[in-house]
Amino acid sequence: MGKFKIFGLDGISYFEIKKNLDVLRYWKRLTDRFQLTLLWTDVENKHRPWKFDSAMLWTTMFTGKLPDEHGIWGYKEGIDGRFMRREDVKATFVWERSGAKFLVWHVPALVPPLSWRCEGLVPTDRVVPELEEWSGYVGKLLNSPIDYDVFISVFTGSDHFQHHNWGADGFLDFYDNVARHLLKHIGEHDDVLVVSDHGFTDIDTSLAHMWTWEPSKRVNRDTGHHAPWGICATNLRWRPFKVSEVHEAIVRHLASRGIVLK
Ligand SMILES: [Zn+2]
Repeated sequence: MGKFKIFGLDGISYFEIKKNLDVLRYWKRLTDRFQLTLLWTDVENKHRPWKFDSAMLWTTMFTGKLPDEHGIWGYKEGIDGRFMRREDVKATFVWERSGAKFLVWHVPALVPPLSWRCEGLVPTDRVVPELEEWSGYVGKLLNSPIDYDVFISVFTGSDHFQHHNWGADGFLDFYDNVARHLLKHIGEHDDVLVVSDHGFTDIDTSLAHMWTWEPSKRVNRDTGHHAPWGICATNLRWRPFKVSEVHEAIVRHLASRGIVLK
């Protein structure tokens, strides 16, 4: 029997893949097997000038709670206070529940990213934003002797790349390289859920919709910014169509395999 592998891709955008499947050959191969649909970012930030905050969204995806309940609106307290910590999250992450063996690395709900049962094998005290390095550690974990039912890891470098390289040369090559690495980690019998927390658009469209604020353009010099169209690519029978449904999709899939989380 295969494993259940969940790959998060920060900010990978639905329309950029959908419109370019004729040139994105690795995405074509991946989505031929794991059908691609739009994952709508239906959770909005009431406490930040940017509406789709990754800390908030990954926390919702892996706790099943909305930010009013789990309390994470961003990586920092307020706009620029101290970094939030595990004890600030007023909810249980799915891997903290009993019933399934989780192996979790590099989930950017907090800084440093969260991990579970992989200390000593891979870095757990820092962000690993570079694709080859991230993928190398994923391979190391998947080939380690640690037994698991569910593997979870999130690639985060796609967010920074898109903020600064929206529409630039090599944009689609970057996208396809992400899919190429995912394919390396997926076995013939695995069940797979690939999700992103939000999509991207050009900075002016984002500003026009009030999805971010002016300093994103002037101070950060963003050429791209967050938009509410993420992706879902999966073979799961109960497919999430919104960020708020991802946790339920994980729980339902485990239940279909006879695993009930407590
Ligand atoms: Zn971002």
